[in-house]
Amino acid sequence: MSDDFLSQPLQFVKGVGPRRAADLARVGLLTVEDLLLRFPLRYENRAGLTPMAALRPGQTATVVGEVLSFGIRPTRRPGFRLFEVVVRDESGAVRAVFPNQAFLKDVFRAQQQVVLFGPLEHRSGGLQFTNPEYEIVRGDAEDSDDAHVHTGRLVPIYEKIGSVTPRMQRSLMHQVLAAMPEEVDDPVPAPVRQALALPPRRVAIEHTHFPPGDVSVVELNAFKSAAQQRLIFEEFFLFQAGLVMRKRRQSSTHKARPVQVDDRVRGAARKVLPFRLTDGQKVALREIVTDMQRPEPMHRLLQGDVGAGKTIVALLAAVVAMENGFQVAFMAPTEILADQHYMTIRGLMEHSRFRVGSLTGSVTGAKKRAARAEIASGTTHLVVGTHALVEGAVEFRELGLVIIDEQHRFGVMQRATLRAKGQHPDVLVMTATPIPRTLALTAFGDLDVSVIRGLPPGRQPIRTVAKPDSRRDEIYQLVRKELEQGRQAYVIYPLVEASEKIDLRAATAMAETLQSDVFPEYRVALLHGKMKSDEKDQVMAAFARGDVHVLAATTVVEVGVDVANATMMVVEHAERFGLSQLHQLRGRVGRGTHASTCVLVYQAPLTEQGRARLEALIETTDGFLIAERDLEIRGPGDFFGTRQSGLPTLRVGDLVRDHILMEEARREALASLDAPQQSSALMAYLSTHWAERFGLVDVG
Ligand code: ADP
Ligand code: MG
Repeated sequence: MSDDFLSQPLQFVKGVGPRRAADLARVGLLTVEDLLLRFPLRYENRAGLTPMAALRPGQTATVVGEVLSFGIRPTRRPGFRLFEVVVRDESGAVRAVFPNQAFLKDVFRAQQQVVLFGPLEHRSGGLQFTNPEYEIVRGDAEDSDDAHVHTGRLVPIYEKIGSVTPRMQRSLMHQVLAAMPEEVDDPVPAPVRQALALPPRRVAIEHTHFPPGDVSVVELNAFKSAAQQRLIFEEFFLFQAGLVMRKRRQSSTHKARPVQVDDRVRGAARKVLPFRLTDGQKVALREIVTDMQRPEPMHRLLQGDVGAGKTIVALLAAVVAMENGFQVAFMAPTEILADQHYMTIRGLMEHSRFRVGSLTGSVTGAKKRAARAEIASGTTHLVVGTHALVEGAVEFRELGLVIIDEQHRFGVMQRATLRAKGQHPDVLVMTATPIPRTLALTAFGDLDVSVIRGLPPGRQPIRTVAKPDSRRDEIYQLVRKELEQGRQAYVIYPLVEASEKIDLRAATAMAETLQSDVFPEYRVALLHGKMKSDEKDQVMAAFARGDVHVLAATTVVEVGVDVANATMMVVEHAERFGLSQLHQLRGRVGRGTHASTCVLVYQAPLTEQGRARLEALIETTDGFLIAERDLEIRGPGDFFGTRQSGLPTLRVGDLVRDHILMEEARREALASLDAPQQSSALMAYLSTHWAERFGLVDVG
């Protein structure tokens, strides 16, 4: 019954009609429910109106009154006209002035009741509003039925939608609410509502649009009223329940066979381990191996700050898989990283019985065919490459584990590709971009998460300083000091797509200057993404050997590159980078036993945001704190640097503002799906509403 009401097309609601319906449809409002779940932008307390006699200059006030007179006043500036209206109440009158808006003469009429909202100032003619927000709450010819909707109370202010003004929306909302049945279906199960003391859905909807008089307008404008929070919770709850359901459906597929762990396997793993694992690494490894022993495929995200030591944890998991007769694919986002992993892993596996191969886009022709044949026959046990590995036509004999490094964005896609090929290997996704928990729950709600806390012992903290471009001499002095002690340095130049050519030229010029003018007695090399891959390899290898002392590079070294002797990171135009990116760059140093420095070079003057970013970076080296700040500064959409991040389109919730509710929603969704009396109704609701509502892959 109530579902019928909520799913009515807006087009057939009295007073909407085809033109307005089209305008509403353009912003995604098709049904009565869509309309009801669109929050006001803000609220105004028109109950607490200021009597005009009490108005003071400098104050921001809302007044309501009757139009006494209006008209256009010419000014001394030719062509410049003022529209002026005088409004009065029982206590007095006030003037409102609208520069250059002569069309208002057709909007205002004598005896209309109007609301004005804005700051007051004192002018020659007395007190006035300049360009206030205005709303005509009752026309001269209208009866006064509707007036209590627009004034004398807390009123919602909506965003204008095409031809539908904020006032029309308020009337429409009022009318729809009046027609709403006493009971509306509530997708949030009753036990959850009781446990969290949530108001019923109907009440929440009503009070979100027309709040009762005792709710504070400050609370409303912060979206913290009980009614608003209840609707935000509902949205998060349904979203999380859908993710959990999707995850459980995936887990109902079975992999070929689970791995087994015995003393032989443990011994083999111990043999490749060059140091003692930190406690954080041990916990993560245990979680991973436990997953691998289960019949369902693992889908786990391994998070750990830059340098936390994720690679070795993944490699130990790989040894466990290989000891069980499985092949392992290890994928990196760039060829540089893939090659580096290949070298590290080959070194560590040198004395084991497993064969490590490499397959990147640069391996071509006969070499490529040979590499593929060895993968297909099972001669290669572990293959390192870019994601071409699973995307292309590469066939494995028995792929048991896929490790995806620094690829949180693509993990989902690659899993889908694998499933489509009818394979269900364990999947481990790794990222050094610490993801704030709210986002992790949202974008990767269907992954299990392990976090490596802390860094391996013996690391020296990295000193971070910000310096303006004008103090370049000082900066080079710092670099020179490191070079003199036998250390190495990175100098990073930003490269943005929009100005790629110019940036590339600037980076090249910088490298030349560094070599010929600044550090003629040292070797400087240039590294950028547009170089051929064997050129890149040569440069990287020379830097790793210590033959190159200063590596001038674009952000290709951002993730994963590991040269322990490099102790100086200079980032040019630091103001152009995002926080997480700067943190990644800084993580390229401080990887050995020598103390390291990161110099953020900026072009003065900094914007306020730019300053906030650099300060956050100087204050802390904790990647998780930095990620939280980044999220606050940039917002969730930009956090991943792409809008296709797996984040849902939310209509009432805000991932940053309401993050605590998301945690609660996650907990309750898990509990509800586990409770037999609640889960079937919830699952039925989700399979009809979820995909449509969140625009993500189907749960059904
Ligand atoms: P990330 O987590 O950023 O990928 P890596 O796996 O590249 O970090 O590890 C960073 C460095 O720390 C590497 O040189 C690695 O050999 C070293 N390392 C990792 N774990 C330990 C440990 N438990 N003890 C000592 N060094 C370690
Ligand atoms: Mg790494």
